[in-house]
Amino acid sequence: MSQSLTLAFVGLGAMGGPMAAHLAAPEVGAETLLLYNRTANKAQALAAELGARVQAVSLPEIARADLIVSCLPTSQEVSEVLAQLPSLKRGAVWVDCTSGHPDAARVQADQLAQQGVTFLDAPVSGGTAGAQAGTLTVMVGGDAQVLDRVRPYLAFAALVRHVGPSGAGFALKAVNNILLATQLLATGEGLAALARCGVSPDAALEVINASSGRSNASQNLIPQRVLTREFPVTFKLGLLAKDADIALDVALSVQASTPLLAQVAGLTRGASRLIGPDHDHTAALQLIEQLNGLELTGERR
Ligand code: NDP
Repeated sequence: MSQSLTLAFVGLGAMGGPMAAHLAAPEVGAETLLLYNRTANKAQALAAELGARVQAVSLPEIARADLIVSCLPTSQEVSEVLAQLPSLKRGAVWVDCTSGHPDAARVQADQLAQQGVTFLDAPVSGGTAGAQAGTLTVMVGGDAQVLDRVRPYLAFAALVRHVGPSGAGFALKAVNNILLATQLLATGEGLAALARCGVSPDAALEVINASSGRSNASQNLIPQRVLTREFPVTFKLGLLAKDADIALDVALSVQASTPLLAQVAGLTRGASRLIGPDHDHTAALQLIEQLNGLELTGERR
């Protein structure tokens, strides 16, 4: 790709907003950065903050971009956005950083190929902190040569890894996130059982985190979000439940035997329904607390 490109970013949510800001950095070399968000004032505010080369635009205006990056809740919203667009520029590349569905990636890749546009499924991991710091992990499905052309523009990433054909990035992301759900829920259940035995969550986590049962859930998520009772909303429970269901779809589509993951997906879906999809994902442990008639509270709360 030539150096002076028009870039566009679609979806300036918890992840998309800070990711888009990295594309405006002078070293990325974009001639123009177009920002689209459904709630337009978010795009206008970010464009004003990022400077003269950045413009808030209506959805059809992103069709003039050479490289479009999207970060929307699910593949459904990506399809809705695609359906509202005029023809894109021939030779353009669409990098979808949504945690989407592999089936949708294949359909969307075919649909855009008819316009001479390449679609890459490129979900991200690293949370809002990684989006702000520009240290996200990006797992990419689709044409590896096209990825190499756009790689220099993915300034929000520390690691960009091609993982397979169209849909492979979404499949890997879904499996990663069902592992997150597994660790979170299993650690919560273990802590609830221990609390009923009279072992405090603080004592239990101090030992687990110096032992072989530790994980991101035990080291970071539960002490920082659950035991403090803060549950700050950075990654919604409804999005985690969506990812767990995608992981199950992926396993079923290839007749993999994943009985444990099926249980985790069901529990995550149930937690999202009962606790609420807009709560932080760590609030799933409130369901475990209800099932056990207790609260996982820290001593230094
Ligand atoms: P948010 O809910 O914070 O943001 C969603 C964005 O999508 C907003 O810009 C919203 O616009 C826009 N949007 C929602 N519905 C539509 C629609 N129908 N048409 C157009 N735009 C729409 O989500 P996140 O940023 O947290 O998540 C985005 C994706 O990234 C998800 O797939 C998630 O699973 C994934 N992800 C999230 C992580 C996190 O820590 N939050 C970490 C890694 C991946 P509006 O402002 O108008 O509401």
